Amino acid sequence: MAVLEIKGVTKRFQTTTAVDAFSLNVADGELVCLLGPSGSGKSTLLRMVGGFETPSDGLIAIDGEDVTRVPPERRPTGMVFQSHALWTHMNVFNNLAFGLKLRHLQSAEIRRKVEAVLDLVGLGGYGARQTGQLSGGQQQRVALARSLVLEPKILLLDEPFASLDQHLRERLREEVRDIQQRLRITTLFVTHGQDEALALADRIVVMRDGRTEQADRPDVVYRQPETPFVAGFIGSMNLLDGVVANGVFTHSGLTVPLAVSDGVATLAVRPEALDIVDVAGSGMATIHRVTDYGTHAVVDIELPDGVRLKAMVPDARNWNAGQPVALKPRAFAAYRDNAAIFRSLDANG
Ligand code: ADP
Repeated sequence: MAVLEIKGVTKRFQTTTAVDAFSLNVADGELVCLLGPSGSGKSTLLRMVGGFETPSDGLIAIDGEDVTRVPPERRPTGMVFQSHALWTHMNVFNNLAFGLKLRHLQSAEIRRKVEAVLDLVGLGGYGARQTGQLSGGQQQRVALARSLVLEPKILLLDEPFASLDQHLRERLREEVRDIQQRLRITTLFVTHGQDEALALADRIVVMRDGRTEQADRPDVVYRQPETPFVAGFIGSMNLLDGVVANGVFTHSGLTVPLAVSDGVATLAVRPEALDIVDVAGSGMATIHRVTDYGTHAVVDIELPDGVRLKAMVPDARNWNAGQPVALKPRAFAAYRDNAAIFRSLDANG
C-alpha cells in the first residue's frame, strides 16, 4: 500500500514559478501520467516528489508521512531518468546490486533479488554483461530494474523512453505497464507525448504553466476535454474561432447549428468527426492536400480565409487537392472563456 499526496506545492526559481499551488493524490497501485508541453513544470514536480528539489511551499506525503524535506536516499521512491546514467565501469549485476549492498543485505539475498528483477524486465541472464555492450532499450531496462530492485513504494519515471525510437518506445511502455500492474506499484510518469499518456495511464494530469488543466481518465480527457488547451493538446483537434448568433456558429462561411447564447465561441472538432462532402464544384472549402496513411487518410482543407482543418477519411482515393468540398461536423464541442459550453452527444464522433 502506497499513497502519494501532493498538497498545494509551489516551486519558484528566481522569477519563474515552475509549479504553482499544485495538488494531486495518487492512489495505491495507480499509474498517473503528468502530460504537458515543455516547460509546464512536469519534471520539477516529479523531482520534488523524488526529493531532488525542495518545494518553496506545500507538502508531499507518502502513506501519510510528510517527506517534503526528506533527502532522496531516505525516501521510499525510485526514479528513472531520461538518460539512464548507468555505471559504465560495473556490469549489469553490480549496477543493480549496488543499492542493496548499501543496505547491507546478505549476498545470497542480493543475488536472488537482482536475478528476479532482471527476469522481470526481460534481461534474465544479462547480469555479467557490461552496460556498454547493451542496446539503448536494454540500458533503459537496466535503469528501470535498478530502481525496482530497491522495492520503492513509489516509482517515478521522467520521460524514460524519450531517447529511444518510436517502435522501441511503444514496446517498452507496454512492458512498463505490465510490470507496473504486476507489482501494483504506485507510479508517476512524466511525458510530453500524448500517445504515451493515453496508452499507459490510469489517470492523466494535463499540466500548463505549473498547474493542472485537467485530471481524469484517458478516455475522459480525450472525449471530454474541459478547455481548448486540453482539446488541442490531446489527440488531433480542429479548433475554430467564430461567432454564434441565433443558434448558429459561423466562421468564414462555415456554419454549424450550436444551441448556446450569442457571442464568440471556439468550435472543436476531431478530424475523425469531420465529414467532407463532394458538392460538385459548389463547396466553400477546398482540399489542400491528401495524405494516405494506408489504414486511413487525412485530408487538409482550406477555408476561404486561409484557415486549415483536418478530416480523417477511410479512403484517400475519393479526394484530390483542389477539389471543392462542404464540411459537416458530425460531433463537436464548443468553448467560451476557457470552459466547455457545448458538447454534442459524443464529441469524439
Ligand atoms: P517540463 O518538465 O514540463 O518541461 P520543467 O519542470 O523542466 O518543465 O520546467 C518548468 C519551468 O521551470 C520552466 O520554465 C523551466 O525553465 C524552469 N526551471 C526548471 N528548473 C529550473 C532551474 N533549476 N532553475 C531555473 N529555472 C528552472
